[in-house]
Amino acid sequence: MTEFDRLAHAIGACRQCADRFAATPTGHDPRPVLWAAPGAPILIASQAPGTRVHASGRPFDDQSGARLRDWIGLDEATFWDRSRVAFQPMAFCFPGQDAKGGDLPPPPICAATWAAPLRAALGPARLTLLVGGAAQRHHLPRALTARGLSATIAGWGDLPADVIALPHPSWRNTHWLKANPWFAQELLPLVKARVRAALADAPLAQPGRGD
Ligand code: SF4
Repeated sequence: MTEFDRLAHAIGACRQCADRFAATPTGHDPRPVLWAAPGAPILIASQAPGTRVHASGRPFDDQSGARLRDWIGLDEATFWDRSRVAFQPMAFCFPGQDAKGGDLPPPPICAATWAAPLRAALGPARLTLLVGGAAQRHHLPRALTARGLSATIAGWGDLPADVIALPHPSWRNTHWLKANPWFAQELLPLVKARVRAALADAPLAQPGRGD
């Protein structure tokens, strides 16, 4: 059994948040969703499963996933091919919902327990996509995230070529997408080019707007 196999078994058996989840309105049991394999060239670092993913056991198996695949230019077969794309959420389990039906934030204990050993077991990715503010704050220096999500994403030229920050593809961000047309017009073509290059083991495209 490899180190990754041992870790995957431990994450799958984790019940650290059982009492926390039982106290939410959904009152659900932990269901860790780990979808990764060592050596995948693309790492998608994201937030936490929602209700659909909690039911299916597959990351981004919902409308957010359809939008994310469109953004990064991947079909379903490639997106869910563990040898090509690994997922590292801030929490592996659905955190539950508040009284208004909004998703609760990822329990911090999950990343505190599993993030570092998982990254070590997976090895370096050629391209890391940081999806949402929680993943960006976890993986990037504070100096790059202190001005908020829009500034972090808009400052793509300040990030290393192997890291891209994206908003969460939730329908809740549709207004943000309309208010920031540069995201689709300028950043997404670069994202697609880097994803293609990462999968082809080719050099990653540099920013094209001179910043
Ligand atoms: S969210 Fe993470 S720490 Fe909490 S039970 Fe699930 S795997 Fe364990």
